[in-house]
Amino acid sequence: MSALANEKKAINLSQGFPDFPVDPELSELIYEASKKGHNQYALMAGSLHLREGISALVKNIYKREIDPEKEITVTSGATEALFAAVSAIVNPGNEVIMFDPSYDSYEPAVLLNQGIPVRIPLTFPEYRIDWDAVHSALNSRTRLIIINSPNNPSGAAISESDILNLKSIVKSNEVFILSDEVYEHIIFDGKEHRSMLTDEELFQRSFIVSSFGKTFHITGWKVGYCIAPPALTDELRKVHQFLTFSTSTPSQYALAEYIKNLRRIENLKYFYQSKRDFFLKLLSGTGFRPLGCEGTYFQLMDYSSLSDENDFDFAVRLTKEYRVASIPVSVFYKDRTDNKVLRFCFAKEEKTLEEAAERLIKCK
Ligand code: PMP
Repeated sequence: MSALANEKKAINLSQGFPDFPVDPELSELIYEASKKGHNQYALMAGSLHLREGISALVKNIYKREIDPEKEITVTSGATEALFAAVSAIVNPGNEVIMFDPSYDSYEPAVLLNQGIPVRIPLTFPEYRIDWDAVHSALNSRTRLIIINSPNNPSGAAISESDILNLKSIVKSNEVFILSDEVYEHIIFDGKEHRSMLTDEELFQRSFIVSSFGKTFHITGWKVGYCIAPPALTDELRKVHQFLTFSTSTPSQYALAEYIKNLRRIENLKYFYQSKRDFFLKLLSGTGFRPLGCEGTYFQLMDYSSLSDENDFDFAVRLTKEYRVASIPVSVFYKDRTDNKVLRFCFAKEEKTLEEAAERLIKCK
């Protein structure tokens, strides 16, 4: 959709990247890091300075002590952490439970490791986990469950009852959890993010993945990390060592300094909530009916009152005729389930959202 958006000079609300500038202080910090000579390979597990910073962050936010030496690995984006975690834990023939719709990098990682993806539909339109279906899918071959909250593409977030269900599963099954928490700080309406870091039993079975790209509007820096107990971290690092070996050094030095100010992270949810509300207000009273958005910077819109076209054709027409690009949600489903829903990224300047809304309002 991004390629089509460029070709048609459409406003691109498809791919999940911000169109506003990075904080000049962060730019300054990376420049400084390079000038000071931090330009050679970082430690394989990540600069210790940054890992200590992440550990302090986790203590502040989730009240958990994490050992920076043994439990944190800095990776080249969350994508690398996800792939390394799957490669570390999934053996040929192991089943991996994931949900439909889900982020597109999970299934290829499982398949490349000769695992078997077992996709369970989330309920529609709430996008909740159907725990009865999860229990029915569990068997002796089940090795991993991939959770993503807040969820891309749906914007749904897991609740306390989901945590209780997960706990009961890990108690009676030898399964591990890959928890994709890249939108951990983008959660709205006073809700709290339920991290696997907040529960001892879940933590002991989890790889928890996060991304500075999402948190600080620097998707192009590709710096993420994985937190896991020492035995799991050991396995993950065996993959990471030969996948990328280490992550860009000046970025790590810059981020280590930048994350010392917790307020930058605490304000993120208000920043994005006001963008979500701004976008929703612009489209209120139109044929685009918003679905719930508890977190992330994606808003799903049901367009069924505007058209009977399938979501792919409708998204293409919207890009060509009205010059606003979005993502048809069917692409996140294995069987291309079409609920007539499009995903719009609202991590954009107000003027971008206004211009997009002016065009969308004309859509028939
Ligand atoms: N997980 C999810 C759910 C995402 O939306 C993304 C980015 N689109 C990633 C992982 C990848 O993050 P990164 O850019 O840090 O590799």
